[in-house]
Amino acid sequence: MSLILLLSLVSWVPATGTTTCLDHTEVPPEENRTGIPVLMYHHVSDPVNGYYGISTGRLYRDLMLLDEAGFYLIMPSDLENGLIQVPSSRRPVMITFDDGWQDNFNFIHTGDGWEIDPSCALAILEEYCSENPDFGHGATFFISWDKVPFGQEQHVTDKLNLLLDMGYEIGNHTDRHGDFTRLPRSKWSDSVLLAMDKFHRRLGLRTQQISTIAYPGGRLPRDAGAEEYLAGLNFMGQSALRLGFLANGSISSMGGMCGSL
Ligand SMILES: [Zn+2]
Repeated sequence: MSLILLLSLVSWVPATGTTTCLDHTEVPPEENRTGIPVLMYHHVSDPVNGYYGISTGRLYRDLMLLDEAGFYLIMPSDLENGLIQVPSSRRPVMITFDDGWQDNFNFIHTGDGWEIDPSCALAILEEYCSENPDFGHGATFFISWDKVPFGQEQHVTDKLNLLLDMGYEIGNHTDRHGDFTRLPRSKWSDSVLLAMDKFHRRLGLRTQQISTIAYPGGRLPRDAGAEEYLAGLNFMGQSALRLGFLANGSISSMGGMCGSL
């Protein structure tokens, strides 16, 4: 299984209260799926890297399948805006990239200087979306700071800013990628806010645009008040987190998903 399907990962929306909280413990049967599917990618490379990795051709094909099945790309901020840009003939889907791997966003040096590597995930997404404007545009890149985000230290600041310039969203994947179910409660705050500090060093005021989290390992402790605790964290005078994403299922192909339209 190379692709993780996250079904309606919105676990709380204190900012608006308009999104339905869904049971995130089980992948619901197809007939009961009412949420917005969220696809979480990790490595995108040739050759495929690791259990959750996929090839570049697979990413392109996934985009094509989603497009042909009538989906439309949205990002977390669109939820707060009521999804007004989604055409009535289409259905929203979210694409996310976890961890900040270099193959997600790579620069290569050419005769003209540094350019976006045409085989990285970002370039593939850009290519598909520019050729197929009816599919919409956008993705969320969840960054953890246990490694250099996107792998090229000298380009980290440029890459993070460029992602926002290009209309993508950046999410918090914590400082050390620690699983909240294993971290002591006393470390939860650092896990989120030390990552925000590091974003702030690279993005300045634009850090306020980061307000979503993908929980490392896709888990959050049950019955520990973790969501409420995390929702109460502040950074730069505003909530550090407004949306949380939990991985709660996996599929090997999107056939069932596209067929459920
Ligand atoms: Zn991760």
